[in-house]
Amino acid sequence: MANYRLRLPGPTEVPERVRQAIARPVVNHRGPEFRAELARAEALIQPVLGTVNRVLFFACSGTGMMEAALVNVVAPGERLLIVVHGQFGERFAAIARMLGAEIDLLEVPWGEAVDPAAVAERVRQADYRAVVVVHNESSTSVVSDLQGLGAVLRDNPALLVVDSVSGLGGVEMRQDDWGVDVVVSASQKALMCPPGLGLASLSAKAWAVVNREDRRPSFYWSFGKALASMEKSETAFTAPVSLVGGLCEALDMIHAEGLPNVLARHRRLSDALRAGGRALGLTEFGRAPVLSSTVVAFQVPDELDGAQIVRAMYQDHGTVIAGSRNRLSGRVIRIGTMGAFDTGTILTDLAHLEAVLTGMGRTITPGAGLVAANALLTASI
Ligand code: PLP
Repeated sequence: MANYRLRLPGPTEVPERVRQAIARPVVNHRGPEFRAELARAEALIQPVLGTVNRVLFFACSGTGMMEAALVNVVAPGERLLIVVHGQFGERFAAIARMLGAEIDLLEVPWGEAVDPAAVAERVRQADYRAVVVVHNESSTSVVSDLQGLGAVLRDNPALLVVDSVSGLGGVEMRQDDWGVDVVVSASQKALMCPPGLGLASLSAKAWAVVNREDRRPSFYWSFGKALASMEKSETAFTAPVSLVGGLCEALDMIHAEGLPNVLARHRRLSDALRAGGRALGLTEFGRAPVLSSTVVAFQVPDELDGAQIVRAMYQDHGTVIAGSRNRLSGRVIRIGTMGAFDTGTILTDLAHLEAVLTGMGRTITPGAGLVAANALLTASI
């Protein structure tokens, strides 16, 4: 599609190499070709997760993996502590309620990160099966301190269950070092694939909980079944074979660039986009110690409507960015800074944003966003 720039915080643009890999003929999902591919996908994603755990793959979106994470660890009536500092924390709470879990919420103002000391305080007061947190809150552009949370829970029976749907591959994840018990993620964000492939990785501490007899049984989402199949280099049910092929290609790209370089590129370019946005008169949303390097959120000036900015970006420039579908609706715009993107990508975003804001009557020095972003980029070379 000409002049179509997919700049959402997921799904993200899929590189040509990955699309070519996905277009290869579909093979037997229980044959030798796919077994080799699945084993390769696992080996290539383990360093991105920072783990030596087995990795489980499912045909589903990110929400499927959120549900899978909870249904595998919590039995009805058991208690979870759910950190809510944005839309996806709220979603975790909604899923947990449906599963019949008792839930306590640790609510943090949207735009801020949870303080591990607050979690430490709560786990002293009650016994939890798990503490559930979103790594990279895409709705607010805030990154959680997983290292700090892992340290709090290391000697506590509660598991640390983490959604890294919009983090993995763009924000550092060191599952084993940090003591994260369950990580779930999905293909369509920093992993540069189309939507439809979910994954999970579990610590030994998590497996001890998953393997209990008294949980509510789950069929499609059973991590136990998934692991038994992975032992044979298979998935329990028909795998999205084409997406696994695409993921291998995307991970080859990540490793060719070098994971530390990939993470640094996300940091540098998201910082530059924020600097450019500030020069256009926008204020970044979020006051956390670490703002996301995979999604940049700007507050919309009071006199403007975020939905109008999103619409004009698309209609005038073919640049597809996101607003908000929650309590921030109209007040925040969000741009993906993950996966296959480079300096040119964010400079183009800024040029389009400048034109749109100018068209809405904002007074902007021509090129101010580009100059500010460039200053930061040249300083950080
Ligand atoms: N978690 C986070 C942090 C997300 O950003 C998203 C999607 O934007 C999801 C979960 C849900 O994923 P999906 O829309 O693939 O179900």
